[in-house]
Amino acid sequence: MKAAVFHKPGDISYDTVEDPKIEEGSDVILKVTSTAICGSDLHIYDGGIPQAKDLIMGHEFMGVVEEVGPAVKNLKRGDRVVVPFPIACGHCFFCTHGASPHCENSNHEHYGPNGDLLDQKGGALFGYTDLYGGYSGGQAEYVRVPYADVSPRIVPDNMTDEQVLFLTDIFPTGWSAIDWAQLKGGEVVAIFGSGPVGLMAQKAAWINGASRVIAIDPLDYRLKRAKEVNKVDTINPNKVDPIEAIREMTGGRGADVCVDAVGFEAERNMLEKLKATLNFEKGSSKVLENCFKAVRRGGTVTVVGVYGTPYDNFPVHRMFDKGITIKQGQAPVLNYIDHLIELVKQEKVVLDDIISHKLPLSEVAHAFDIFKNKQDECVKVVLKPHGM
Ligand code: NAD
Ligand code: ZN
Ligand code: ZN
Repeated sequence: MKAAVFHKPGDISYDTVEDPKIEEGSDVILKVTSTAICGSDLHIYDGGIPQAKDLIMGHEFMGVVEEVGPAVKNLKRGDRVVVPFPIACGHCFFCTHGASPHCENSNHEHYGPNGDLLDQKGGALFGYTDLYGGYSGGQAEYVRVPYADVSPRIVPDNMTDEQVLFLTDIFPTGWSAIDWAQLKGGEVVAIFGSGPVGLMAQKAAWINGASRVIAIDPLDYRLKRAKEVNKVDTINPNKVDPIEAIREMTGGRGADVCVDAVGFEAERNMLEKLKATLNFEKGSSKVLENCFKAVRRGGTVTVVGVYGTPYDNFPVHRMFDKGITIKQGQAPVLNYIDHLIELVKQEKVVLDDIISHKLPLSEVAHAFDIFKNKQDECVKVVLKPHGM
């Protein structure tokens, strides 16, 4: 079959690889009809998260069940499903305590309680490096889905792939960022990053009762998209001080909730890059630190942007003085997906209005280039492995 294969940083190509096979009785093989590139894929693409061996990329995908392992009960050939990105066994301590991204059984080699830089990670993710289980991903014509009775969800026939594809990751991720803050209604929510994840958090904030949603991003074309599709207020941090602007919008107090939907690969100036080099830090925690400044006293900061390394001078003093609540991590997609499918079915939310590009999978190298380098007003790319 054909698939998008990571070889080394900056090098992802459309290659011929071996077809996936049923390996465990609980597997299915999916024929992938649509897949997307995530901001998290960029951490592998640019070397921020290491991967030594070739790897089939992709953790946002959906398709039609092609082959079913003998132990699978809930799916049959021909079922059309979306597949959440964490690989979860469904019966371990974490899977039964609402924390499926920490599954104890899916990541055989690198699982552990420590959460270190290069070992002791949580559960496995599709197409997301050997550290996260080394499973082949779904930017491919076919993909093996383990524990197939646990995570895949059947989607309505009358909905297009594009309408439901983002239930695999970015909508549940944006939803997590807001759910973790437990809005009561009327809150001002400031969302740093207006990429695909930030855009989904904006949608979730409105649905959960925010009175004002503010998007912060240095890219004007992404702020324009946010205004158009989600009717948010916008701040470009390269034009105005975002902390001052948020305080001005909130009577000097700060936002009730700040969301970090950027992570460690935030845009940085030369001085910030120099500091990181001297401290052996990858990227920076500047967006998270901005969240601590911009949130009001007693407010909540949630973090869905990825952080992979420690940072010196982390402002724990500000967290303490302001009494900030913080919650973060990989999105527990399984906790939300059934509710979120209902929202989509009932047309309470539209997800496909963030798509800027639809391309055949054969153009994956170009797709990574424009998404990474923010070219051609790229916001979200959907790839089609079997023709458009
Ligand atoms: P993206 O790269 O398309 O979006 C990031 C956005 O942040 C860009 O629009 C960029 O211009 C903006 N940005 C850069 N510096 C900024 C700054 N200083 N202030 C404000 N905005 C800034 O990626 P994405 O797909 O939207 O993903 C965002 C993050 O979420 C990534 O770190 C990704 O790995 C992570 N993610 C986490 C989960 C999870 O389960 N927690 C799931 C999916 C993605
Ligand atoms: Zn993702
Ligand atoms: Zn488990």
